[in-house]
This record gives sequence, structure tokens and C-alpha cells, in this order.
Amino acid sequence: MTNVSISDLRKYGKTYNLSVLSVALVNHQKANWKLASSNYRSLKQIRKTSFDFDHFRIDCQFNPERIRSSAADTGIQSIQARPCFLCNENRPEEQNGIPYGDEFIILCNPYPIFPYHLTIPTLKHIPQLIEDHIQDFLHLTRDLQDFTVLYNGPECGASAPDHFHFQAGIRDFLPIEDELPSLLADKSERIFFRPEVEVYAIHDYLRKMLILKSDEEKILADTLKKVIRLLEPSQSGPEPMLNLLGYFKSGVWHIVLIPRRTGRPSEYYADEFEKILVSPAAVEMAGLLILPREEDFFKISKENIHSIYHQVSIGNDEFHTLTEQIKTLT
Ligand SMILES: [Zn+2]
Repeated sequence: MTNVSISDLRKYGKTYNLSVLSVALVNHQKANWKLASSNYRSLKQIRKTSFDFDHFRIDCQFNPERIRSSAADTGIQSIQARPCFLCNENRPEEQNGIPYGDEFIILCNPYPIFPYHLTIPTLKHIPQLIEDHIQDFLHLTRDLQDFTVLYNGPECGASAPDHFHFQAGIRDFLPIEDELPSLLADKSERIFFRPEVEVYAIHDYLRKMLILKSDEEKILADTLKKVIRLLEPSQSGPEPMLNLLGYFKSGVWHIVLIPRRTGRPSEYYADEFEKILVSPAAVEMAGLLILPREEDFFKISKENIHSIYHQVSIGNDEFHTLTEQIKTLT
């Protein structure tokens, strides 16, 4: 695994900022790494369907290569038994990266959901815990301005809970990116308002979520930290169950926080007839269900979608308590 230089990337795209450089990196990897080339080519023919829920939609993508992630065994024993695929020494020779600050490296995700899909691990093998990386999340969101940056908690879709990483997908691909302006205008409750930061609650969207908007990095980081501390601690894991998504538009951070009740719905564990192999992470919570099995892609119904989101999202009462607490934040 080597770092790729700006002059190497010049052949594959523009290089004037980190965001376009990352696009060039994916192009470079598609041209020089067989696995990436083949999987990005398959992505072009991938089947997609959409369910209409009046003021929003849920998309489904049939993506067999994602079986590794959706069906990943993230139990402690199996994690300890495997070589970590995000550690430098275990990464394939062909996987090149762009260093980001002193701590991170930007990589092309070889099993894409997005036409440009990045994985951004720390250089060190340290656990997936967001608390100490809020600032990194905001910096990355600002610096990758053509991307949406994603964080999956260790119990909420991260396939390597033992090695800290973000993902990023090229913008204007996820339903929520389309829907956020109208959600904020018509379907949200503003629960916290300061001149520098606003927090909105979205109640009526199959899943509960909070939106934080701000152009002040430090105040946003503090508020986000305070909100995360209000979430119920996980019974089994090291941090409250959550996913995060962020994008930076016209100088303003838009951060989506999705508190979770559980990692996988009962459909995941059901017998064959009822089974739907889906493992909701930030992408799914943003309205795009990744289905690695063809039979699930054909049989999934609106009722299944209701049931899946209902189980993995926090409930009305918990969300009400949380929003009341946020209203009293100073
Ligand atoms: Zn590792």
C-alpha cells in the first residue's frame, strides 16, 4: 500500500482541492486495481427500485458485493480472529491512498454503493468511537465538499468496529440529500436555536432524526457532543447507538444524527421465507436500503420497510424525552 502523489492523480481528474483529488483517486484505482475496476463497472448496471411514502422515498439497491459488509460478523471473537482490513499492513498492494492530516488516510472503497465511494480510516488501529473524532468529522465534511461523510457506530453498521473509520459518498445520491430542504421547511420542529447553531427534530420520516445546522465549527462540535451525551448509553457497546451524516454547503454544515435502538432488525435473523438480509447503517438510515440478495430485492414490500425502520430507529417516547432535553441545553 502506497500513497499516491498529486502528479500521479493529474491523469485521472482535477487536483485543486481535496474533494476533486478524492474523485481522481477513485478514477486512478478503477484504472489500476482490478477489484475496484470490476466492482465499479458492476455498479453501473446495478438494479434499483424506489418506494414512495408521499413526502419522501426509500430506494433499494441490489448490490451482491455488499454481502461482506451486510453479513459481517462483528462479534468480538471473530473480529479478533481476522486480520484487520483497514490496517496498513493488511491492505492490498494496489490500494493507494491520500494522507489526510496526521491521523487519517483517504482510500477508495473497493465495494462501492456510490459511484465515488471513500473509506477514511485512521492510520492507527484504534476503536470506532466518535467522541474524540467530532472535530475530524467536521473537518472532513468541510474538506470533502462534493461528498456526504458518514459515520457508523460500532453497533450500527460499522463492519470494522475495532478500527476507526469514516466513509464518504459522492453527493446527491441519497434520498435524504434531496429531501432535507423540504423536511427542514415543512416537517421539522426547531428544538434549539442560537445565532450560531440550530437543531431540528424530524418526527414523521419512518425514522427519528436530528439535524444540526451551523457555520461555526467549534460551537457545532460542542453542541453535537452535548447531544450525543444525552443519548441512552448502549447496553452492550461502548457508545450510544447512532449514525451520523454530514455535508457542507454554502459555508454551512448540515449534520444528521440518527439515534438507534438496535443494529439489525428481526428480518435479518428470520427463517428463509421471512428473511431479508439488511444491516442498516448510515446509508440505509439516509433512505437507501442495500440488499445483497436478489430474492430480498424482489420480495421487499412497503410493510417490510416500515417494520425495518421501526425496529432500528428509537421510539416516540424516547425521542420525545431526548428532544425535551435538547431544548434545555445551554
Ligand atoms: Zn486495523
